[in-house]
Amino acid sequence: MNPRMLTAARDAQGLTQKELGDACGIAQSSISKAENGTRPLTEDELKRVAERLGVTTDLLSWPDDVYGFGSASFFHRKQQSLSQKTLRRIQAQVNFLRMRVQRLSQGVEVDASMTIPHLDPDGAGGPEEVARRLRAAWRLPIGPVGNVVNAIENAGGVIVRHDFETHRINAISVWHPGSPPLFVVNSTLTPEQQRFVLAHELGHMVMHEGEPPREEAEREADRFAGEFLMPATDVAGDLRSIDLKKAAALKPYWKVSMQSLILRAEHLGIISPGRCRSLHAYMNKLGYLPIEPLPVPREDPTVLTDIVQVHLDEHEYTPDELAKVLGMPRSQFINEFTTKRHRTLKAVN
Ligand SMILES: [Zn+2]
Repeated sequence: MNPRMLTAARDAQGLTQKELGDACGIAQSSISKAENGTRPLTEDELKRVAERLGVTTDLLSWPDDVYGFGSASFFHRKQQSLSQKTLRRIQAQVNFLRMRVQRLSQGVEVDASMTIPHLDPDGAGGPEEVARRLRAAWRLPIGPVGNVVNAIENAGGVIVRHDFETHRINAISVWHPGSPPLFVVNSTLTPEQQRFVLAHELGHMVMHEGEPPREEAEREADRFAGEFLMPATDVAGDLRSIDLKKAAALKPYWKVSMQSLILRAEHLGIISPGRCRSLHAYMNKLGYLPIEPLPVPREDPTVLTDIVQVHLDEHEYTPDELAKVLGMPRSQFINEFTTKRHRTLKAVN
């Protein structure tokens, strides 16, 4: 077995060594020694531990590395207020998603017409210019981005909606050698929040991935997202004398929250910071925060479920075999990696 994988699988379940030991009738010291690599678990212990952790015994021998979050995520202000335990859980869960996406991607040609480039915000003249260059490189039309999920998937990105079990993390993006760029977004986000969060993470991926941490990374990712979703030259006219009524009218067209439109108006100097605050307070009073009225259509990722379907249909894997490749029980595989429609059909049967 690989001690790193045991630690990661335990972290992913949010269990301490003692809790895992107690649940499996194994002394904490044995778990500890197995994780230190000083004494492996017996075959029987390994089986009980794997079952409790919801993984196969195979997975506990995977040779993969477990990575920390990239430098970009490091500065997420909200994450810093998370407990160490929650951070470890989420880090382990994202690592397993990455390892599984990597295994699924092997042997499947993903037809990506674009790529996600690296552009240095200092060299380019700021995050807004980076957003403009990316929009040009991706041949995005003037005005709103029709579908952020499709745009990222067309550039080879893989997007997974995941329940982080906390509202404090919106998304984590990771890009390691040999794996496609992976965006894990909180499944509790509203559709318009998801669009903004993905644009923000895209900004990190383009500007900060693989770079040393920088203090202004969060601010830069937000500025990138603002220009990417609402280019100044296209949106400025719409934002003139914006109020809530106007924001509500613009929302279905721009497919961003009323709050984002109001903030954008402030950033572009169209309204004053004071006016922005009072509109924000008014929205709060009406109960429009954090869940706004007039939700935009949800954008569902399709690349990962398509890859799974290729394995099932063309490579003739059974769901059991594919679950085994991913080191997880069949039920969890069906739940996490096949489409909702598939799940509904299953439930009816
Ligand atoms: Zn960020």
